[in-house]
Amino acid sequence: MDIRGFPTTLPEFQRAFPDDAACAAYLESMRWPGGFGCNACGWQGEPYRFNTRSSIVLRCRICKKNTSLTAGTVMEKTHTPLSVWFWGAYLMTTQTPGQSALQFQRQLGLRRYETAFTILHKLRAGMVRPERDRIGGGHPVEVDECYVGGETRGEGRGVHYRTAVIGAVEVRTRKDGDERATQWKAAHNGGLPAKKLVYAGRLRLQVIAGRSADTLKTFVDGNVAPGATVLTDGCGGYKGLPRMGYDHRPLVLAGDPENAEAHLPMIHLVFSNLKTWILGTHHGRIAPYHLQAYLNEYVFRFNRRFYPMTAFNSVLGLAARSVSPTYAQLYSGEWEHPASGGKAA
Ligand SMILES: [Zn+2]
Repeated sequence: MDIRGFPTTLPEFQRAFPDDAACAAYLESMRWPGGFGCNACGWQGEPYRFNTRSSIVLRCRICKKNTSLTAGTVMEKTHTPLSVWFWGAYLMTTQTPGQSALQFQRQLGLRRYETAFTILHKLRAGMVRPERDRIGGGHPVEVDECYVGGETRGEGRGVHYRTAVIGAVEVRTRKDGDERATQWKAAHNGGLPAKKLVYAGRLRLQVIAGRSADTLKTFVDGNVAPGATVLTDGCGGYKGLPRMGYDHRPLVLAGDPENAEAHLPMIHLVFSNLKTWILGTHHGRIAPYHLQAYLNEYVFRFNRRFYPMTAFNSVLGLAARSVSPTYAQLYSGEWEHPASGGKAA
């Protein structure tokens, strides 16, 4: 269990949500933390409860209005048991590589592939909300670009996509970092500081058309807080950052890849893991116009890796009632899911 009581292992998860009734109780406590309240007449108390084919219905004892337990969540109007949704959300938000629909169907013993596909599709919709606040602000930020795709071997035919991606990641220092470094130095005669004193904070990733100065500056301006320290390579496109109010630290001795590695270790690690994920789970075949949705999913999971409960509730549509309009918008057809063609699941 983590400190908020959220399961961190499969056995713990199974104990917390052993059946549909346990999932329903959790849903109810998330929607009405202070106990059921009727949104028609305002009455509070124990409602009547009864099952319909697709949900549990709570009925007000005064005005008799019905409220579906799953209304406004990703599970609304589903015929799939709540426990299957809960497992899906758990696997999707806690497993580092993410899930393919086929793996998911097998793991949960679902009879139909389409059911697995639909569940993942809907849960993923909760992951693609772009995060708009700017990172940095007290933490240095590494910014760099990479290419994704286009290097798969063993496939002579077909289109090999190669898409430019820009990323920014916060470099955070552990609370006890300075103390540990001092201890380490004392014990090792002033050598290099111990590793693991820093860790990655929040991440942003974006597909870009190219590496023009305008593109790079627009990305930094939109994603990194004003005044932050920004580390980049020596690329001329970043030259304007000081004029935009950033404390710009470009790599001075360009040319040697080892220098870049030492100057921007965190974002390079992120890019490396991103490429592994795309190759492993999606076989590297993501068309450029679908790539941003996958980047958003990657960023969602990365930024909540210390907050599994937040991630779990978000994909189920439980985080806050204010999320619902976003879901409605997502399912209204204004937004097309990248995997809807069935190719990249
Ligand atoms: Zn009522």
